[in-house]
Amino acid sequence: MAHSEDLLVLKNFIAGKFVPCSSYIDSYNPSTGDVYCRVPDSGIEEVEAAVRAAKDAFPIWSSKSPWERSQILNKLADLIEDDLEAFAQAESKDQGKTITFARTVDIPRAVYNFRFFASSILHHTTECTEMASMGCVHYTSRTPVGVAGLISPWNLPLYLLTWKVAPAIACGNTIVAKPSEMTSVTAWMMCKLLEKAGMPPGVVNVVFGTGTKAGEALVCHPDVPLISFTGSTLTAQRITEKSAPHCKKLSLELGGKNPAIIFDDADLSQCIPTTLRSSFANQGEICLCTSRIFVQRGIYSEFVKRFVAETKKWKVGNPSDPTVDVGALISKEHLEKVRSYVKKAKAEGARILCGEGVDSLALPAGNQKGYFMLPTVIAEIKDESCCMQEEIFGPVTCVVAFDTEDEVIKRANGVKYGLAATVWSSNVGRVHRVARRLQSGLVWTNCWLVRDLNLPFGGVKASGIGREGAKDSYEFFTEVKTITIKH
Ligand code: NAD
Repeated sequence: MAHSEDLLVLKNFIAGKFVPCSSYIDSYNPSTGDVYCRVPDSGIEEVEAAVRAAKDAFPIWSSKSPWERSQILNKLADLIEDDLEAFAQAESKDQGKTITFARTVDIPRAVYNFRFFASSILHHTTECTEMASMGCVHYTSRTPVGVAGLISPWNLPLYLLTWKVAPAIACGNTIVAKPSEMTSVTAWMMCKLLEKAGMPPGVVNVVFGTGTKAGEALVCHPDVPLISFTGSTLTAQRITEKSAPHCKKLSLELGGKNPAIIFDDADLSQCIPTTLRSSFANQGEICLCTSRIFVQRGIYSEFVKRFVAETKKWKVGNPSDPTVDVGALISKEHLEKVRSYVKKAKAEGARILCGEGVDSLALPAGNQKGYFMLPTVIAEIKDESCCMQEEIFGPVTCVVAFDTEDEVIKRANGVKYGLAATVWSSNVGRVHRVARRLQSGLVWTNCWLVRDLNLPFGGVKASGIGREGAKDSYEFFTEVKTITIKH
């Protein structure tokens, strides 16, 4: 346990200033189990102040040209990039993810989010039609919505927060953001750079705290007409209920139970390393991670043998060690939840091929109290099992055999979620056919996590409502008006 004088103490960022809070919550370093940071426990009062600041800043910010806003976004991207190593170290310590992942994925993507929307905001056009017989032209005009409430989760903290902040402010909105109470540090670090980037006070406000207190105060605030939320399906249901009386605009990016479908003509030399990453990257704590692997029966045994052998090579340990592949899970409670799924599977008669309860985990002395677990592969499990139906959100994946294309599509679609799917086959016709029939917002074939931010991102069924991306975020963060001119 750190001494109280060593603790990092965060402050809310409101109207361009860091403001202390009357109460705080503890934040843990997942790789040691120690409290190392105190996060403001904001509530109605803090949210009220932040919304007021955002409302005050709106008239000036929304009247700036896209070019002026773009320059500030680009400057902020440069400043984060200049500090990339410090941001990566902080993200790894706060979240438990490996330093390698933070250096190569989280922080570069946060930088890119700002650069991307700084550029894309310059290239939108609106629509125009002519009705010659009536002597009319119609055109659309887009304006920012107002104060945007942005709520983000703990798994990719700065990456997902900036995926909302960048388009929201690029479009001319002002914002109140609430990062996860478990991973608030890099959002606070970003606030320190805003003034230098030239961001006017009040455009970006960040309140820290829990979902039930700070998050709900934001969702229920009558002057916040729009909520962009990434997190669990359960929280999204609550947000939908709470925001309904205000008819708010909602974007909901939620959980997944993502299948990988591997046909017998797949190139296993590509498929196996990619499916390992898609199952275990970031400790399996990515909404897009694979957790159900369907393998065509002819190659099932070979796939399982090779996949398990490769899984066992993944090194679990101190996230700051650059040779480590799997860091710590976010919290003790989450670790216990993930482990309980493996126990349930075992009790149902499934076979644990490697990892939890099968292999031993040796941790460095300083990490004995951290929240670590071995990547785990489960086989001989029924489709109805909770491990095949519910989002586990940890380094656990199930592998099962299938025979035909029709059968596997039905089984892959047989869950409440529909976020991302992966299809492996060298038959182009089959790849298109299967991709079309999968109930999923994203389908990757013969690859995983290759993203073009221009194109829509989001889920179907319980995985979400709405899409994010260049055009989609622009449409969400603006209101459109149709204007008719008669001459
Ligand atoms: P969560 O729903 O518990 O929390 C997400 C955020 O919502 C946090 O900031 C939390 O404080 C806040 N929150 C909680 N209750 C709230 C309430 N009543 N009102 C307002 N805000 C509230 O999710 P989590 O555990 O932080 O994140 C993991 C989940 O996020 C997983 O289900 C994962 O699949 C999902 N996720 C989805 C995507 C995507 O793009 N689809 C990306 C990453 C994570």
